[in-house]
Amino acid sequence: MNALHQEIAAMIAEAGPISLELYMKLALAHPIHGYYRSRLPIGAEGDFITAPEVHQMFGELIGLWAAEVWRLMGEPPHLHLVELGPGRGTLMADALRAARVVPTFFDALDVHLVETSETFTAVQRETLSTCGVAPAWHLAWDDVPKGPMIVIANEFFDALPVRHYVFDGGWRERLVGLAPDGGLAFGLAPEPSPEIGVKAAPGTILELGLAAQEMMSEIAARFTAEASVLLALDYGSDAFHFGETLQAVRDHRFANVLEDPGQADLTAHVDFAGLARAAYKAGAAVHGPISQGLFLTRLGIFTRAAQLVQRADARQKTEIDAALDRLARPGPQAGPRASMAELFKVLVVTSPGLAIPPGFEADAA
Ligand code: SAH
Repeated sequence: MNALHQEIAAMIAEAGPISLELYMKLALAHPIHGYYRSRLPIGAEGDFITAPEVHQMFGELIGLWAAEVWRLMGEPPHLHLVELGPGRGTLMADALRAARVVPTFFDALDVHLVETSETFTAVQRETLSTCGVAPAWHLAWDDVPKGPMIVIANEFFDALPVRHYVFDGGWRERLVGLAPDGGLAFGLAPEPSPEIGVKAAPGTILELGLAAQEMMSEIAARFTAEASVLLALDYGSDAFHFGETLQAVRDHRFANVLEDPGQADLTAHVDFAGLARAAYKAGAAVHGPISQGLFLTRLGIFTRAAQLVQRADARQKTEIDAALDRLARPGPQAGPRASMAELFKVLVVTSPGLAIPPGFEADAA
């Protein structure tokens, strides 16, 4: 039983079962034992790999996309380039390197990184030490100063805690309690939650990403005051489905959600329909979601790859082709070589009335 397990067990023994949402929050973000606080999980040696770590083309294309969005915004002389949950800082480093080809854009930028993990902040500092700008770090979105901005969120919303409800005539919230042997076990709240109106077959699970929706509402509300655009890339579905997608991943393998809290990454698929609704309700415009494969193709990943291949040695050529398989070509949905092309979706939120950002124009009828 690890230290965080003991702490959670003591909380439950004293005050009763806790919500899954609180459990997930503690497991990920506990100030000492939380997963993101205590380990560096991304990369070949970590628990999982993300698109910017697959190949530099990913961050470079997003940097060029941001330069074009800035142009569509009317080239504001000062622009906040904000990243939520920047991980190792790789996406931002690649984006800034590419952005230098548009010097007026590069000179307009000040970079803001929203990150809760000290471990990651230290790595970001190192990765971005030669990027030519001095980023500002913030513990929370609220601390990012006002002004026109472009916000990037890659695999950020999936890290925010979810709630589960199970239907048995009413929706009862899933809680984490104690098993007789001291282990953590799922249970249900004694009373149903009356605010959920829909009905379903007995045993149906409803997963709600309320933390993600609340954050999206706050971001979108700010966008109504100042020209701004958000780009969110994540795995998830564009239509609502019942069922749970919460998963624990450790050493590139699935693990038990309730075992060894703080030692495995806990994520849930992003409910893009819910995120889009939250942004729209707060007064922003929404485009997409479209698949990551389509987005990267429209941004020219295959053209960029062909250019890189011309100057590449044999090993680099193989890497570029493998990266295209992972990032942009539809392929297997599961396993360590799973393609992100269709599982991952891209959503854009803009201030009302702003031109449609590159990658999404063809969808506007
Ligand atoms: N965007 C990166 C990292 C994804 S992992 C990439 O694509 O590689 C999720 C990141 O979000 C980590 O940096 C984690 O520390 C950070 N994070 C998780 N919850 C957060 C929160 N509530 N606020 C800010 N950052 C958070």
